[in-house]
Amino acid sequence: GSTIGMVGGGQLGRMFSVAATRMGYDVVVFCASNDEPAAQVSTRTVVGRLDDSQAVIEFARQCDVISLEFENIPAETMRLCGEHAPTYPSHHVLATAQDRLIEKQTFADAGLAVTPFARVTGRDCVQSFAAEHGWPVIVKTARSGYDGKGQHRLDDESDIDSVPWQETDHWIAEKCIEFQAEASIIVARSAHGEVRCFPPFENHHVNHILDTTVCPSFLSPELIENAVNLATKAAEVLDLVGVLCVELFVTADGTMLINEVAPRPHNSGHLTIEACHTSQFEQHVRAVCGMPLGDPSLRVAAAAMANLLGDLWPNDGPPAWDQLQRAQPTVALHLYGKRDPKVGRKMGHLTATADSVEAAREAVLSARRTQVN
Ligand code: ATP
Ligand code: MG
Ligand code: MG
Repeated sequence: GSTIGMVGGGQLGRMFSVAATRMGYDVVVFCASNDEPAAQVSTRTVVGRLDDSQAVIEFARQCDVISLEFENIPAETMRLCGEHAPTYPSHHVLATAQDRLIEKQTFADAGLAVTPFARVTGRDCVQSFAAEHGWPVIVKTARSGYDGKGQHRLDDESDIDSVPWQETDHWIAEKCIEFQAEASIIVARSAHGEVRCFPPFENHHVNHILDTTVCPSFLSPELIENAVNLATKAAEVLDLVGVLCVELFVTADGTMLINEVAPRPHNSGHLTIEACHTSQFEQHVRAVCGMPLGDPSLRVAAAAMANLLGDLWPNDGPPAWDQLQRAQPTVALHLYGKRDPKVGRKMGHLTATADSVEAAREAVLSARRTQVN
């Protein structure tokens, strides 16, 4: 089809729209306001509530194929979209990926290693989970969390009451994994069943929010092969069409556990725009439009990405990005067009490519520091 529908107006939809329009598609974004990051760059926007079926139908009728950029979209919205145009990921995939309990159980049932978990509703369940797996325990809302929202780290029994249990009865407890590092791997799968993986990324989180990503990762060739097999199997288990990011905990002995998956482009894949022959956004377009997949391999020796959170925005106006671009002319600045910076909110990112991971990392970090000073 020549018109792609995008449900959701955030930065992932924005970068998707930039890639898709460059490739000659029209993009219709469906989101809550014309101000949203993706709406600013789309061909057209349908403004409405994502759970308003009249608005969903008005949007879906304009599209030849439909995708999404955020997994917390009502699954019913995607089901309804699917009545009008091929919709990837399907509402089935979405329903799985938007509930941590269903997602982990699906992968566990398929024989893929996931972080040990259990459904919990309060003190007694957490205590029996801790008796089996030990402290600390991480308690998360099973649904609608992102960027670490809704997560509570419980170091011991005395922390149990710090969880706002009354807010929902749908919580998951996870064993707190002492990982050596975190990695992610993005796999693309087309409607024809073609599968290709990006090289794994190495991720560093601060306060449960992604801070920096580098590629190549520290993973050995053997671990890369494990990650590729795991991601391929995950995409097949879900019968996914599009891109899927698999977030991994890698422990000291090289064991890889799935933390979570996202059936869409992912923050850790932003560096693919500058660093790979095909970006994650182009690959997603190709997968959902039924084109042959592009080459996801690196076209540079190394790359690094650093997120720019609202914390960096001074109170008296936007940061002096012109200063940054003068100081670091080889670092790519991406801003998402968000007008209200908040602590912890993703406002943009920086990407550098270099001859080594160390050099690329230093370039984005020093560029980010230039800005802060
Ligand atoms: P996003 O979707 O933005 O990645 P999220 O809110 O879905 O965020 P998670 O990916 O579950 O959050 O967790 C965010 C980060 O918190 C992880 O990448 C990891 O650094 C830490 N974390 C989460 N769960 C665990 C765990 N069981 N053990 C150790 N660290 C964890
Ligand atoms: Mg998540
Ligand atoms: Mg995550």
